[in-house]
Amino acid sequence: TAFPESKTVVLTGAASPRGIGRASAHYLAEHGWNVGIIDLDADAAKAVAAEIAEQHGVQAAGAGANVADEAQVRAAYDELEAALPQIVALVNLAGVSSPVPYLEVTADEWNRVMGINMNGVHYATRRAVESMVQHGVGRVVSLSSVSAQRGGGTFSKTVYSAAKAGVIGFTRSVARELGPQGVTVNAISPGPIDTDIMGGTLTEERKAAMAADGVLPRIGTPRDIAAAIAYLISEDAGFVTGQTLNVDGGLYMH
Ligand code: NAD
Repeated sequence: TAFPESKTVVLTGAASPRGIGRASAHYLAEHGWNVGIIDLDADAAKAVAAEIAEQHGVQAAGAGANVADEAQVRAAYDELEAALPQIVALVNLAGVSSPVPYLEVTADEWNRVMGINMNGVHYATRRAVESMVQHGVGRVVSLSSVSAQRGGGTFSKTVYSAAKAGVIGFTRSVARELGPQGVTVNAISPGPIDTDIMGGTLTEERKAAMAADGVLPRIGTPRDIAAAIAYLISEDAGFVTGQTLNVDGGLYMH
């Protein structure tokens, strides 16, 4: 099934000022997408949506939800679906880091990170694909991490790696099940990207050390990831599914 003429992408976790999500929302709006934003902070989600509508002349709306809470996710998605043109794509970006060493991981820390980074991807995806299969077309992209591919070694540690590796298996299986119904499902695995997720620890020295670990002489920018998202949710990427695209400056090759 072809894309509708007016199409919407919903992004979770797109409200933080220097985050990948907000940069991606702008980038996608520049490329003609209407934009829905779901974030923990409802006011921030609505403010970013208003800024996108004004700057790019597309339709945009924001709604608040904790992605770890299925009822909240469904309510927010219902709101966006009612307000915007057909939702063709979902991008799961809402996530938190977890620098806790494995021997210090409490049950609360485990459940917090799994709840947002893994369950949250499932809740939003589940709601989105229910509508996508009815339309016979859809794109889902979820943010994994190089941390899943090579077992940490970045900023976050085991709980984060486990959740982000879960996203890859989830992506492959949902891709397999929903391909026949016109929905592609892919993951992006970024290397270190210059945002605030590492909580102020990303000094110039740390950036240089992380860059030296890869092939290209810099760490990544939110725009590097936005461009990969734009490709994977495009109509022309309809033959790509179940994949994990490493956008990491050559940090991990396999
Ligand atoms: P960020 O902290 O700037 O953005 C995360 C966003 O998620 C924020 O807008 C925040 O409000 C939202 N969020 C957090 N918890 C939420 C919840 N419970 N419910 C709803 N929204 C919630 O981080 P970022 O660097 O832009 O990361 C975006 C995604 O990319 C994350 O999934 C992250 O794990 C992944 N990633 C980032 C890097 C990196 O180096 N920055 C590397 C690999 C993967």
